[in-house]
Amino acid sequence: MEETEQPWLPDEIDETFDPLSYADTSPSPETPIIVTPRGGAREVGRSCYQVDTQHGRYLVDCGLNQGRGEKFPDFRGLPPQSVDAVFLTHAHIDHCGGLPVLENRNLLADDARILATPPTASIATLMLEDSLKIHQRETNRTGRIQQFTRRDVEAVCDRFHTINYGGGRISGVSPAVSDTEPAVFQFGNAAHLLGSAWVMLQSGGYRVVFSGDLGGRAPHLPDITPPPEADVLILESTYGDTHSHTSMSDARTALWTDIKRALQTREPVLIPTFAVGRAQTLLLTLSERLHTLSADLRDRIEVVLDGMAVDATTIYHEYVTEEPYVAESLVNRVEESGMTEPFLPANLTTPTTDQERLELLTRAARGDTVPIIVSPSGMLTGGNSPRYLTEFAARLNSATVFLTGYQAQNTVGRQLQAQHQADQQTVTVTTSATPFGTDWPDSSAVQWIRPDEADGPSSDDDLLTRVSLPGSWITPIEGLSGHAAQHGLLSFARTVGPDTIHLVHGPDYAQERLGPHLAENVADVSAVTRSRLLTPIEISGDATVETAAIAPDQIDDTRFTDLDERINHLYELVSQLNEEVAAARNETGLTEQQVREIIRDELGNE
Ligand SMILES: [Zn+2]
Repeated sequence: MEETEQPWLPDEIDETFDPLSYADTSPSPETPIIVTPRGGAREVGRSCYQVDTQHGRYLVDCGLNQGRGEKFPDFRGLPPQSVDAVFLTHAHIDHCGGLPVLENRNLLADDARILATPPTASIATLMLEDSLKIHQRETNRTGRIQQFTRRDVEAVCDRFHTINYGGGRISGVSPAVSDTEPAVFQFGNAAHLLGSAWVMLQSGGYRVVFSGDLGGRAPHLPDITPPPEADVLILESTYGDTHSHTSMSDARTALWTDIKRALQTREPVLIPTFAVGRAQTLLLTLSERLHTLSADLRDRIEVVLDGMAVDATTIYHEYVTEEPYVAESLVNRVEESGMTEPFLPANLTTPTTDQERLELLTRAARGDTVPIIVSPSGMLTGGNSPRYLTEFAARLNSATVFLTGYQAQNTVGRQLQAQHQADQQTVTVTTSATPFGTDWPDSSAVQWIRPDEADGPSSDDDLLTRVSLPGSWITPIEGLSGHAAQHGLLSFARTVGPDTIHLVHGPDYAQERLGPHLAENVADVSAVTRSRLLTPIEISGDATVETAAIAPDQIDDTRFTDLDERINHLYELVSQLNEEVAAARNETGLTEQQVREIIRDELGNE
């Protein structure tokens, strides 16, 4: 695969390093857009792309890598108050978790807005509040300096400005953007989770499409909205090495078959999950199928939904009749059945206190009920899932623990997965779970250990928990991913038909396999490269795609959410019509009266 011609970064770069001046580039009429990765280049996590035009500076996403010591985007050399707007593709923490740091470091212009769809803004607010708690805990534990505070989270959430799928001029949606900025943006449905979007930016006749994370798999979301043609595509590559996933319906059937088997033998079930997206796919699978069980069994089952997944599901329910956001089939089902909460199965418990969690485990241990516990986090790195796992090990003789998603390095989930794959009879993991009651029941399966006895006396917070459980409990389910595989990525790239493709947000092995595949199969693509951190991508030169500037009102499906935007949009439209009519008048000799009639007619169609 062709490597970018930009120079490698110098060996040592300090905090003042400016990637654009190092690469000796700046926006100009010949190079109207420059994209610089500040995270998420050759990694999954902390997606963040700086976009410079002649009239403004923007970010597309600003994420956090929550694994292994929290990595934020690399903001070095970014002057104070220099970012005029942020486009947020979706609410996963690896795309929005760095936003409060922008606030903390004063990098946003006074009136800069965070532009997102309404569900993305709601879910991101939830995610950022949760992320703050994790950040506070991590900084307390490690003694590192806090990168953002509650005030930063509140301030950055106040900047959210919601925009439905569609688009317009950037200057019309973020007051920090100069009126002279002609650049246009467009959001389209990326079908990755509720409200997720790809983003197109256009300036000086050139276009770039940022895929964000692409889905097209979840049963409750619509298909991906086809993106427009563009000169450059910035494409995610998380599953770029996987030709195609197990089909979603096969994966859901496999999950249900295993759940049913567990229930029939009265085995409690734990499903650690991402709170947003995956949790709702799991819940929908349960709510569609639990009624097929015998009445006797059904009465014993207790579906437990815990933690942030509860609030996220509430947001999903706010949109179950909004077709641009959820699949038409779900909207129809909701409207026909009159049910307002299709994601929630019957017999649902949502514990909010440890006492309630303890009670449901006691009921299960006695054999009174069979719980199916759906709880974040998906890799057992936080939330209550590691605590449930530990209680299961301490209290139960048999259980099923599903792994339903990607398990990153150095997570409890990865340890479980690896030992299961190695056919270990007993799997042992180290976590920092605390019991729901005052102590673990008397069990050799759970031990508290000090991480480093040699360091002298440790506080209780430093105690780690070593958990052993039978390897047969672990049940991985493939194919529930919300990410498009190679085939979906190729089809998106073909629709964009770019001159160059820059791979982002993927591990090395995935990008190395996806790159040549795209180079061979996307017509007329001249280069597919793996983008590098702090290495600018110039959008200019001999574009092979015809991307004559599109006016804001030519973007389909433009719907603005507040009056300001609407007025702004109409103002734009009137100015443009005036110009068009003036031009037509020169040719046809229309009178002033006729001009006004034409404008009235056109506005009537808006
Ligand atoms: Zn995502």
